[in-house]
Amino acid sequence: MKRIDKLYDMKLHDPYMDKSQYKDPTICPSCKLIYHNKRWFWDEDYYKELMKDKSKVNFKKCPACRKIEDHYPLGIVELVGDYVKENKQEILNLIKNEAEYEMKRNPLARIMSIKETDDGLVIETTTETLAKKLGKAVHKAHQGELEFSFSDSQKLLRVYWSRE
Ligand SMILES: [Zn+2]
Repeated sequence: MKRIDKLYDMKLHDPYMDKSQYKDPTICPSCKLIYHNKRWFWDEDYYKELMKDKSKVNFKKCPACRKIEDHYPLGIVELVGDYVKENKQEILNLIKNEAEYEMKRNPLARIMSIKETDDGLVIETTTETLAKKLGKAVHKAHQGELEFSFSDSQKLLRVYWSRE
């Protein structure tokens, strides 16, 4: 039983966020995010300074870029209904603005993909918080019905929003 519990815990924990796998300082070669003093951040000046002596820097993809590469979303937002098709551009702009805003707070929060389906739009995110914020932003601006469902078998938040 213990082993099952342990597996369960591991799934609910974000396996990409284990900081012990990153040395200080680390630069993500994909997005230039820097890991330093247990934090991830962008800093153009510090990046240039670090790149002067690459022997002192570790290069490893950040958790966000690895999730995107492995296709490991922590949030899935489904926007469903005729209203979505009729107001697609406006909704997409809102989603992009909200994602940019959240990325300033947490640079590891990214939109992984935006897909158009027969029912509307599906957005995958690298964090649950971003998925939740996208759902709330759409709900606030466009009303409709909003629902959250947390997977109990892995760390994944599903957000459903619909308006006919
Ligand atoms: Zn990165």
